[in-house]
Amino acid sequence: MDKPINRRQWLTRMGTSGVAGGLALAGADSAAANPLTKPSSFQSSIIAESEVMANRASPSIVDGKVIQPARELSVLHETDVLVVGGGPAGICAAIAAKRAGADVTLVERYGHFGGLWTGGLVLLIIGHIVEGKKQVCQGIGEEMMRRLDKLDGAIVDRRAGVAPTVDAEAVKYLMVEMIEEAGVKVFLHCWGVDAVVNGNDVKGAVFESKSGRQVVLAKNVIDATGDGDLLAAAGAEYQRRSHNVGLVSRIGNLDRVDHKRAKGARKPKHLGRHTPVPGVNWVNMHGPEVDGLDVEVLTRMEMNHRKFIWRNMQKTRSTPGYEKVYLVETAPQLGVRMTRVLKGVKTVTLDDLRKKTTFPDSIGVGGSSAGDHQQWQIPYGTLVPEKVDNLLAAGRCISAEMRMGDLVRLIPNCFVTGQAAGVAGAVAVNDGCRVRDVDIDKVRKILRRQEAYLG
Ligand SMILES: Cc1cc2nc3c(=O)[nH]c(=O)nc-3n(C[C@H](O)[C@H](O)[C@H](O)COP(=O)(O)OP(=O)(O)OC[C@H]3O[C@@H](n4cnc5c(N)ncnc54)[C@H](O)[C@@H]3O)c2cc1C
Repeated sequence: MDKPINRRQWLTRMGTSGVAGGLALAGADSAAANPLTKPSSFQSSIIAESEVMANRASPSIVDGKVIQPARELSVLHETDVLVVGGGPAGICAAIAAKRAGADVTLVERYGHFGGLWTGGLVLLIIGHIVEGKKQVCQGIGEEMMRRLDKLDGAIVDRRAGVAPTVDAEAVKYLMVEMIEEAGVKVFLHCWGVDAVVNGNDVKGAVFESKSGRQVVLAKNVIDATGDGDLLAAAGAEYQRRSHNVGLVSRIGNLDRVDHKRAKGARKPKHLGRHTPVPGVNWVNMHGPEVDGLDVEVLTRMEMNHRKFIWRNMQKTRSTPGYEKVYLVETAPQLGVRMTRVLKGVKTVTLDDLRKKTTFPDSIGVGGSSAGDHQQWQIPYGTLVPEKVDNLLAAGRCISAEMRMGDLVRLIPNCFVTGQAAGVAGAVAVNDGCRVRDVDIDKVRKILRRQEAYLG
């Protein structure tokens, strides 16, 4: 039997023999599946013979226009609070709402949780700690940090005043654990494409998946898509912004750089920052300022960035001493920083940060450990659309003026607004009111009970 290997040895083997391993597996697969040589060890059955998709309503071309006919949509599920998007904000929203007593459903377009934090490989948690030991992001975000601390190889730099760095796989694992513990109903691989709206009232959302176009009905909906997909579909007003779109990558074997050989040679560019995995760095990328909602732009960014990263790695490897450095992976998810921002009942402003404005409806405190350690209170109204009802925004798409965008979108601040949206959604359900009318003192009390810091 093979001797057990540690994570480091495993990563090293993947780096040096990943291709060979892949070929060997492919060979075994095809041999097992060849009916001429032996019966397959795989299992496969026919689910339906000669199936034709039922209830199709394919668009047709009428007078040169593509027209989609009206059709009834099947209801996949009914819930109290529907959270769309399983990134930092959505995970906190779902757990907080469930802990506050609501029946909660979380829907995510990809196959994993974490959003840009994991799929985008944004591993550095800026803003978790401000002013030395004073930490403004508490609650579920801090609970995640504490739990990551207990996992081997999951987080580094958990010291006061230092921004911690996580391992994306550890975060994905932890999020599954926490969502399951909380008892949140989950649908992955479901892309939110529309809102169900009666008048001004949001009643649920429409999703596309391999199961077709289906609906989840809800008493209220939290838009944690980052891009404000649901708030836009529901008719809420928003500001559309361009921002830098990059692609993060991880590179390995940095602990095998031959510093004697590298002496005198020009140090390669873009070597990134350390991660919990020894010898592996994550490499951030600014990228150009573009519209992150334009599918042609997104396509170009994916292709250009991947070419750039690969070619840059070839340059690095041709530098004396750096021959063993390799590209571990490019992030599966493009680094879209900012697109739609809600026009809310209230807005996070730089003036309020400078004046240290306090709000009676503060649902949390935002912070940044970058630069001069800023902090600001976040009023509940920044999550509430001006007109549309039963909908809240959470995360990077909350109502924030342009100058505050780069602070508001930091991961811990998304934890904070996510948790607050979840609690408010649950309170609205329990009290049978609209989310804009929730008893904010009750929301704040529950948030405190959930160990959130409100300033
Ligand atoms: C390149 C880059 C570098 C960054 N660096 C840092 C840093 O160093 N430190 C830091 O703190 N922050 C950093 N950030 C910012 C931070 O990563 C994000 O702002 C934060 O992850 C936003 O969290 P969120 O939950 O609001 O949205 P996201 O992380 O975008 O999560 C949204 C989730 O919703 C899902 N979703 C989207 N649309 C739909 C839909 N229609 N239907 C269903 N699901 C949907 C997505 O798949 C995703 O899981 C960086 C961002 C980028 C892009």
